[in-house]
Amino acid sequence: MSENTELDLLLVDDEDGLFRAADTASKSDAIPDADSGTLNMLVCAARWALEPPKLAVPLLSAQAKAAGHSVESIYRPFLPWKKNKFRQLLGRRPLAAGITTVAMFDPASVERITAEIRRISPRTVVVLGGHGAENSPEIRALGDLYISMHGEGALADVVTALKAGVPPARVPGVTAAGGALTLHGSLRYEGLRRVLYPDWGAASSACRRYPLEASRGCRFNCAFCGFPGKAGQTFRPPGEIAGEMLHARKQRGIRRFEFVDSSLTSDPGFVLALCSAIRRSGLRADWKCFARPDAFDRSPELASEMAAAGCSRVFMGIESIHDKILAGMRRGMDRAAVERGLGRVFKAGIKVHGNFIIGFPGETEATVRETADFISRRPFSSVYLCTFGMSEEMRLLAAREPARYAHLAGRPIKGWRHDGMDYSGAYKLTLWAVRKINMSKLWLTAASPATNDPARPPF
Ligand code: SF4
Repeated sequence: MSENTELDLLLVDDEDGLFRAADTASKSDAIPDADSGTLNMLVCAARWALEPPKLAVPLLSAQAKAAGHSVESIYRPFLPWKKNKFRQLLGRRPLAAGITTVAMFDPASVERITAEIRRISPRTVVVLGGHGAENSPEIRALGDLYISMHGEGALADVVTALKAGVPPARVPGVTAAGGALTLHGSLRYEGLRRVLYPDWGAASSACRRYPLEASRGCRFNCAFCGFPGKAGQTFRPPGEIAGEMLHARKQRGIRRFEFVDSSLTSDPGFVLALCSAIRRSGLRADWKCFARPDAFDRSPELASEMAAAGCSRVFMGIESIHDKILAGMRRGMDRAAVERGLGRVFKAGIKVHGNFIIGFPGETEATVRETADFISRRPFSSVYLCTFGMSEEMRLLAAREPARYAHLAGRPIKGWRHDGMDYSGAYKLTLWAVRKINMSKLWLTAASPATNDPARPPF
């Protein structure tokens, strides 16, 4: 295809920078100074080499191409060696530009992209999707149309309508909710004609590890969780997933996979069938997934079966070890179940990254000390301590049951307080626990994710 050929859809993916400009009054890190710009570039290059590509653009691209549209993709469009390509693609006047904000929470990061699109191709319809747009009206206002949740089917339909001359406001299903044009995507797989293998030609990194999706939604209903797809999970057939893994190996030589499902192990029967399909396929895969300890407690053989099918690591959502807090979180497990489940995974030789929340209602300095001690005594490969962030749903729940949730009140996400502490107190305890755990280990095991920082988005 010549560079001057018209383009139906340009897909754009980018991320907030890790480092921000020094001495900026603004919280934005989208327009870095020379120092932070260089650091961000180094981080970006490392991520390009080491981090698996994100799934969003390959899925969007696959559905749009299947609908007969011409599609191009660009990741990190402002890197020095990408800028020209970005401008050339915009020079082809794409009918629509789909920007995934899955890793952009700073409005200025998104605005930098939309401003360039408006400058070079003012008639292009800017469509936003992903977590950043979902959480921020300011980000949504930067686009012409916002697609909520999983948007690959909806975006393909939007492009079809635009090609037929239908303006965005008249695309079937589009509403003007809150002043911004909005189209609801799918929560799970509803509305998709067919689940397609991702278009790995649109892969955004050099990493030899690929993401993989076995299900959408989550069958659990944790109180703190603002995930819109919770309380229901739809799984793909195990044979189809093993087929996708084989396809990635044949097409691109990939043998290492990361399941992105909220909790792959929520239905142990499904995972046992998947393990069996992977083993039958003959693919000697290496994979990791998100899991919860209760699955391994309920299904004693699960950890060893997963290890035999190539699972080498799990990201274990443990969240708390305190029965009262676990009950308030509606986790459906107690500390004894956490310990039994974790013990089986360690025994199977699967490496465990543990995730804990610090500051949920009921948390005190004493419970944080106990959590730090619990982690220090177990062979975790790595641990994240996440300072509790209050979702809107959690705020409403606490308003209904104030005593149960220690009178939690305030503003989502970081503007909360309860009887025991506020966000800033919980953040200090988080950092204390990270130091305490790391001093007890031979290597740096615990970390506080950058998003914990009260000065960083999401606020
Ligand atoms: S298991 Fe994870 S995704 Fe599911 S509801 Fe709980 S926190 Fe949310």
